[in-house]
Amino acid sequence: MNNAWTVEFSRILVVVTASILIGLSTGYWTLGFLIPSTIYIGWTLVQIRGFERWIRLGAKTNLAPDSSGIWQLIVQHIHRIQKKDKERKARLKGMASRFEATISALPDATVVLNSHLEIEWSNDAAKEVLGIDLSKDLGQRFDNLIRLPVLSQLLTGKVDNRQLELISPVDGNVTLIVTVTDFGDEQKLVTARDVSQRIAVQKLRKAFIANASHELRTPLTVISGYLEMMDIDENLPVSVREPVNSASQQAKRMKKILDDLLILSKLEEKGHSKESGEKVNMPELVAQLTSDFEKSRAKGSHQFELEIDQSLHIKAVESEVYSLCQNLLSNAVKYSNPGTLIAVRWRHCENGGACLSVEDSGEGIAQEHISRLTERFYRVNVNRSRQVGGTGLGLSIVKHILENHGGHLKIESELGKGSTFTACFPAYRTCSTKVIDG
Ligand code: ADP
Repeated sequence: MNNAWTVEFSRILVVVTASILIGLSTGYWTLGFLIPSTIYIGWTLVQIRGFERWIRLGAKTNLAPDSSGIWQLIVQHIHRIQKKDKERKARLKGMASRFEATISALPDATVVLNSHLEIEWSNDAAKEVLGIDLSKDLGQRFDNLIRLPVLSQLLTGKVDNRQLELISPVDGNVTLIVTVTDFGDEQKLVTARDVSQRIAVQKLRKAFIANASHELRTPLTVISGYLEMMDIDENLPVSVREPVNSASQQAKRMKKILDDLLILSKLEEKGHSKESGEKVNMPELVAQLTSDFEKSRAKGSHQFELEIDQSLHIKAVESEVYSLCQNLLSNAVKYSNPGTLIAVRWRHCENGGACLSVEDSGEGIAQEHISRLTERFYRVNVNRSRQVGGTGLGLSIVKHILENHGGHLKIESELGKGSTFTACFPAYRTCSTKVIDG
C-alpha cells in the first residue's frame, strides 16, 4: 500500500484507539468517540481549506500547503499534471512558432481572414505584394484595404471561380493570381502568387509567333505565287510537273498555317467587352455559309440539314463569328464521309444564351482526345488532318473567338458514330428580332 495511505490509516487508527481508551476510562462511550472524531474532522477541514486556497491562487509549486499523508499525495499528483501540461504547452508553442516561421518564409503572400473577412494573420510576402502589414492592419477588413469588386465577389463566394488574376495594389508591374480557400470555422486563407514572369514569357512567346508569322508570310506569298504560275504553265517539262505541283500545295498549306497563326495571335491580344460587336444576322450567315459549302464541293458531297431560329440574332464581331462557323462546318465536312448528313442548329440554349451546333455522322473522336482538341496543333491523326488540308489550329481559333465573346465550346463525340460541336454564346449577346412572314 502507498506510504501516504499508511499514514492516513494510522491517523484513523489513533482516533479509534483514543476513542476506545476514553470510553473505557470514563465510561462515556459517545463522548469518547465524539472528541477524537471532531479533532480529526476539524484537522481535515483545515487541510481542505489550505488546499482550496492553494488551488484558487493558481496552484504555484512554492506555495503548496505543507501537508502529509493523503493530502501530500494529492499535491504531488497536481504537481505532476502541471509539469506535463507545461511541457506540452512548450512543445505546442515551439511547433506553432516553427509553423509560423515556415508560413512567413513562403514566397506566396498568405493572409488568414475570419468569418467577417477581418485580417487575423499575414506573412511578409503579403506586405510586399498586397501591401498588408500585420502590425497596422490586424483586425481590418481585407476588402476595405484592397477595394476591388471582383475580389469582394471572390471572397464572398459569389463567383464560381475561386481564383482571380489581378495587378498588385503595391506595384503595377506585378500580376498576381489570388486564390481563396475556406477552412476552419468559416475562416478563409487568401494566397497571392506573383505570376509576372510567366506572363512576360507568355507575351514574349506570343509576340515572337506573331512576328515570325508576319515576316514569313510575305516571302511565302511570293514563292507560292511563282509556284502556282509554274504549275499552270503548259510549257513546263513533264519531269518537273509533279514536284512543282507538290511544292505549290505545300506552300499553300504553309500559308494557311501562317494565316491561322496570325488570326490566333490577334484573337489572343484582345478580349471583347460586353458591349463590343455589331448585330450579326446569324440565320443569314449560317444559310450563306452552308450554301457556299454546297456549291464549292462536288455535287452530293454532303447534305446540310438546317434547323434555324430565324428570330435569333447576336451582338458579336461578325468576321470572328464567320470564322467560327466556317471552322466548325469545314471540320464536319472534312471528317465525315461524302453523302452523309450534317445537321446545323441555331437556337436558344438552356441558360438563355444562343448555341450553334454542328452535328456530323463521321469518324468521331475517342474520349481521351476531346479535352485536348482546342490546343494549338493538336490533331487526333496528323496524317489524316494533312490529307484533308487541316492545320490543327481551327478549333483553337474557335475556342478563342468564343472566349472573347464570353462563350464556350462544347464537344460531344463517339468514335465511329460522329461528333457534335456546340458553340454557346451567353444570354447578354443574344438579341431576338420579329420575323415578318412573306
Ligand atoms: P484541323 O485543321 O486539323 O482540322 P482543328 O483544330 O480544326 O484542326 O481540329 C483538331 C482535330 O480535331 C482535327 O485534327 C481532328 O482530328 C479533330 N476533329 C475536329 N473536328 C472533327 C470532327 N467533326 N470529327 C472528327 N474529328 C474532328
